[in-house]
Amino acid sequence: MVKLDNLTVSYRQHPALHHISGEFARGSLTAVIGPNGSGKSTLLKSVMGLLRPEGGRVSVQVPSARIAYLAQLTEIDRSFPLSVQDCVLLGCWSAVGAWGRVTPALLQRVQAAVVGVGLAGFEQRSVGSLSSGQLQRVLFARLMVQEADLILLDEPFNAMDSRTTEALLALIHRWHAEGRTVMAVLHDDEQVRQHFPQTVLLARELVAWGDTASALSQPNLRRARALSEAWDDNADICHIGEAPAPAPALRRAA
Ligand code: ADP
Ligand code: MG
Repeated sequence: MVKLDNLTVSYRQHPALHHISGEFARGSLTAVIGPNGSGKSTLLKSVMGLLRPEGGRVSVQVPSARIAYLAQLTEIDRSFPLSVQDCVLLGCWSAVGAWGRVTPALLQRVQAAVVGVGLAGFEQRSVGSLSSGQLQRVLFARLMVQEADLILLDEPFNAMDSRTTEALLALIHRWHAEGRTVMAVLHDDEQVRQHFPQTVLLARELVAWGDTASALSQPNLRRARALSEAWDDNADICHIGEAPAPAPALRRAA
């Protein structure tokens, strides 16, 4: 479904992803996990075609209208004056088009999605007045009406209460059962082990990609942590318990 071939992506010459290769199979349910700044959002944006690779390529076997992307909540503008119903209706964009009509059937689809995420009665509320959990439910309802084949979620459960997380996890499982391909950036190893069969472990480079139990082995997690500590090249490196540090010019951050 999605193939990464020696993908390198940089921001102003600073590589955020190095030489990543691998494949997300059609119908797979994959967690993308790694320390802060390890390139997880960069990976999703590259699959969406929002960033241009500096090297290598991303091939996506699905038309862009069939891809749904949920950005990190912090990147979403909530001040836009939009009702819950209209916000979900935006997910039908490819069916409605610029000059198309909103048919009763479409409105029914929207209503079913609003009910499906537990927000019946909120249709006319403005999205700016919602809590983070309610807003995330709205955005999931929008993904539902999109009927996408490939769904990309960036930290969908960040700052969510446990009831919202459970409701959204159930939706992800339903999408998986329907044969959609889902990738989600997550933080919680335990949640990944419980709910996501496949895992990509990133630390700017690829640490592991495969079934979750082997990808999240202790040696792999240690390696991801060690790599992330090595990035902070301005910080003083901690040498507790080691032989006296060599002269600064010879220090290695590994
Ligand atoms: P993650 O989602 O794993 O926390 P990101 O993919 O957001 O990581 O970022 C990877 C690296 O790229 C980080 O060092 C981050 O500071 C840097 N980065 C991300 N977005 C930008 C940007 N727009 N401009 C410059 N650097 C960026
Ligand atoms: Mg991120």
